[in-house]
Amino acid sequence: MPEGHTIHALAARLERAFSGRVVAASSPQGRFAADAARLDRQELHGARAHGKHLFVDIGPATLHVHLGLIGSFPVRPAPGGHVPAPLPTVRLRLETDAHYADLRGPMTCTLVDAAREREIVRTLGPDPLRRRQHPDRALQRIANSRKGIGELLMDQSVVAGVGNVYRCEVLHRQAIDPLTPGRDLSTDAWTALWDDLVLLMPLGATFSQILTMPDQVEAARRLRRSGRARSVTESLTGERLGDHFERRFLVYKRTGLDCPRCAATVQDRAVAGRTLYWCPTCQLRH
Ligand SMILES: [Zn+2]
Repeated sequence: MPEGHTIHALAARLERAFSGRVVAASSPQGRFAADAARLDRQELHGARAHGKHLFVDIGPATLHVHLGLIGSFPVRPAPGGHVPAPLPTVRLRLETDAHYADLRGPMTCTLVDAAREREIVRTLGPDPLRRRQHPDRALQRIANSRKGIGELLMDQSVVAGVGNVYRCEVLHRQAIDPLTPGRDLSTDAWTALWDDLVLLMPLGATFSQILTMPDQVEAARRLRRSGRARSVTESLTGERLGDHFERRFLVYKRTGLDCPRCAATVQDRAVAGRTLYWCPTCQLRH
């Protein structure tokens, strides 16, 4: 499932391609035809993400999309104004003579008004990718829960945008025991988790790739500081076309391999419906 950095990157990509432009909207699949007709030949004003929820302002309406497990919404250039015919599975196509974007397989694709958007956002915890967030709100939820922090991090009403890869990796980076009940987690440990997500997730959005290995995080931060990350970001369409960095993780999908910190064996178990990967030897912090 796409994590929050993917949706934030998608919002930015939609804005770069379409903001301030009149878009043609259609539903080749037919399931969104009536609503697509309301968006057709309207100006796209902007796009934003809250956690894994995408909102796109088009004319007087706001499009709400949640990609769910299998959805995708790549934004592609249309060289010379040539836009290929859409696949019949495309729920919504947005296009101009310069770009087109095809939404396929979303869990949610609907039009909402401002009140409904606020209602959706109210159900979400703070989002490490947004400014002016209140991580204390998440801590309140965590401190009142017997559930493990590894489970709570996956709950979108606690923290918005974190998925399984960030959950496993950030807990390892901060050496926190994922099975620690929320009410036993120290404020320091929560602050360390939040600050690390605020560091890591924007790098994920910039490179459309989850980066957690210390050497890769350093390299990504250097690229961003130098301004050279922009060309990477702008070349991405949202499709998996090969990663900018080698795909490496600390514990994610490394069951049975050595922990990069203590050389003990990485283990896994199902937590919150997804496989949690962690090192029981060095992740002891509460
Ligand atoms: Zn270890």
